[in-house]
Order: sequence, then C-alpha cells, then structure tokens
Amino acid sequence: MTGSAPSAPLSVPPGSAPNNATYDPLFQAALDGLHADGSYRYFAELERRAGNFPQAFHHGAGRDVTVWCSNDYLGMGQHPLVQAAMHKALDETGAGAGGTRNISGTHHYHVELEKELAALHGKESALLFNSGYLSNWVTLGTIAGRLKDCVVLSDALNHASMIEGIRHSRAEKRIFRHNDLQDLERHLKELPPDVPKIIAFESVYSMDGDIAPIEEICDLADKYGAMTYLDEVHAVGMYGAQGGGIAQERGLEHRLTVIEGTLGKGFGVVGGYIAASRALCDFVRSFGSGFIFSTALPPMIAAGVLASVRHLRASATEREGQKRAVAYLRRRLDEAGLPYIDSPSHIVPVMVGDAKTCRALSDELLTRFGHYLQPINYPTVPRGTERLRLTPGPLHTEAQIDDLVAALATLWREKGLALRPAA
Ligand code: PMP
Repeated sequence: MTGSAPSAPLSVPPGSAPNNATYDPLFQAALDGLHADGSYRYFAELERRAGNFPQAFHHGAGRDVTVWCSNDYLGMGQHPLVQAAMHKALDETGAGAGGTRNISGTHHYHVELEKELAALHGKESALLFNSGYLSNWVTLGTIAGRLKDCVVLSDALNHASMIEGIRHSRAEKRIFRHNDLQDLERHLKELPPDVPKIIAFESVYSMDGDIAPIEEICDLADKYGAMTYLDEVHAVGMYGAQGGGIAQERGLEHRLTVIEGTLGKGFGVVGGYIAASRALCDFVRSFGSGFIFSTALPPMIAAGVLASVRHLRASATEREGQKRAVAYLRRRLDEAGLPYIDSPSHIVPVMVGDAKTCRALSDELLTRFGHYLQPINYPTVPRGTERLRLTPGPLHTEAQIDDLVAALATLWREKGLALRPAA
C-alpha cells in the first residue's frame, strides 16, 4: 500500500494570534481537500452477527449483505471455539488486564499465547502487542533507533506501520523498488560493511496479493550482513502446514531475524506480535516505549487468540476451504471475462482504474445486489489502479460467489467497462 495521503502542514493565517476558534476551520479545510479529491473515507456501519459470517447487516443499506472485503480471512472471528474460549476467560478473569504488562497486567493467557506464537514460528520467543500496527511501529522504531548508524532497507510498498516505525527510529532509510532484488542489492552494495542493516518487507502484499522472494532476500541479507524483518500480517493463519505464514510454507523461518504478525486477520481477533530470538524480544520488551507504557490486551482476547492459533495449527480445514473459494471465484471471474490480478495468494483484486467508477460500483453492488465491497482508491493504491479487493474465505459458498460474479458482470455491461480478452 502507498500509505496515507501526503498533505501540506496546516498553517494559521500569517500575523494572526491563534485562539481556540482558529483550528477547526483548518481541520475542516484539510477534510474538504479529501472530499475534493475523492479520498475521504466513509465507514460502513456493519452488524456482524455471530455464526452468520460472511453475512452481516449493513446499516447504510438497511439490509443484510454478503461481506467480501473482510480481513477476518478464515472466519475465525466467529469460530465457536474462539468465542467459547473468550466467554470462559471473561468469566474467569473479567474484562480488562488491569495494567501494563510491567505493572500487574501480565496474565497467564498472555504468557501462554507468547509461547504458542514462538512455537508456531519455530523461534525462541515472541512478544505481544495491542495491534499489528504497534508491533511494526515499536519494533522497527526500537531496533533501528537504538542500533547506532543503523540503515533500514524498506520495500517501496511496505505498510504504513513499518514506514512510521522507521521514521520514528530516525535511522537512515533506503527504499528499494518493490520486490526488486537487483535494486535491493544496489543499495546494500553502497552501504559500508560495518553499519547495521535491516531489510524490512512483507510476505503477502495486501493490495496486489503478490508475494516477496523471501529466500533470495535472505540470501542477500546473509551476503551483506543484514537483519531481515518480515511482516506476515496477510499470511499468518493461512499459509504453511500450521498456519505460520509464507516463511513456514517455504521452510525459511529460521533464516528470518524477525517475523511479525497480526492476531486480527487470519486469527480473527485483535493484537499483533513479533517472533524472534530471546534477546531481541527481550530488548524490545525492555526498551520499546510503545510496548512498555500501554495497557496490556484483555486476558480474554489472549485466550480467544490462543484458541484460534491452536486450532489453526492443528486444522487445515479453514485453509483448504479458503483455497477452494479463491480458486472457484477466479474461475467464475475468468468465465465472465472480468479483469482481476491473478495473484499467487488469497487476495483477488478486481481492477477498475478510476475512483468514481469504483465507488459507483461499490454503491450499486451494495444497494441493488446486497454485496459489500469497500472501494479501494488513492492513497491506498496509486491513482489509475483503483479496485475492488475481494478476499473470499472458507465460509463463502459457491452460490454466493456465483451471485457476486453475476452482479459484477451486469454492472460491467451496464457501465460499458472493459472486459478481459477471452483466454
Ligand atoms: N502490516 C500490514 C501489511 C497490514 O496490512 C496491517 C493492517 N492492515 C498491519 C500491519 C497492521 O495490523 P493490525 O491491523 O493488526 O494493526
């Protein structure tokens, strides 16, 4: 993703002494700018109903809809085992953690979950955060910030949380072209051998669904003495024999310095983590301000996630169901001649190429056909590549997929949009 919209700093009128009435108009002017370029974000108010995913009630549309853009990729957010574990832990422990991890907020469930996540990735240790965003921000900020003269080599499509973490570290940053090994090596070659280096990248990229050449990046890291930091947010739970992600699927976990993941997507709940050596996790635990000074996740969340991780380590049913749904959707899109990126992952971006059309398609899919797909526009993706991003999962039925593709085909025809040439 390309992150948030770059915007000029807001300035008070020159020569004026600002008072309390000065600021709201400045904020409003910035918001008007977002409205004007079509990038203002509207939230869909959804009522997810346990046991009903991917159906949900959409308040704006006033009807039940099928959700196609959820990052609850495997439906674990409504899995009975996860819900039961959370109910049990809520009754046992109450609602909140009661403190930061350092001051009374570490519960048995946090400790168990960290052990489980370390085992999932074959690492010595793991450290929990309140979100995946925070795990990237704190870890990169802390490691790159505390290692003298550290340089971070960052993939051009890295997520905002990594970009902000690197910025926060104040380390030198080199951006290499997306998934481009030659460009990465060019940067590595230019750096003095004696400075610490971190290569920060993702496995599955969320908007195109493409996958990094992890092994080759690890080879370069070895050659030039760099650490590797891999964000597996869009892969954990879904790839590898136990849901450990792409690195697990490719047998590369031992070659990565840090594997970072979320507990809010494939695992269906909320939270983030890193898995790494004992020393590295302890270092971030001990020096990462955004970890130390923030209330711990409620123990019931840790309990729910623990149930989810344990289930997905043992069961391939959800992963297989997801693969089936993705393959079926692609086949139906092919038959209908609809344009999509044929990615190697579960992410199926249907390409539109224009912000207004993208929004109109999304609106009509919702109100006329009962399918909810958030339009993906600039700045999340570059202009001209606006899209509908589909993430079919094990709970989407073939009938729902047929219905969605028929609706898309109708809208494509009505709007005179380009189809793919027949294969
Ligand atoms: N990394 C990537 C690549 C992401 O796409 C996201 C969230 N969309 C995050 C990190 C942050 O994870 P979380 O939602 O758990 O904060």
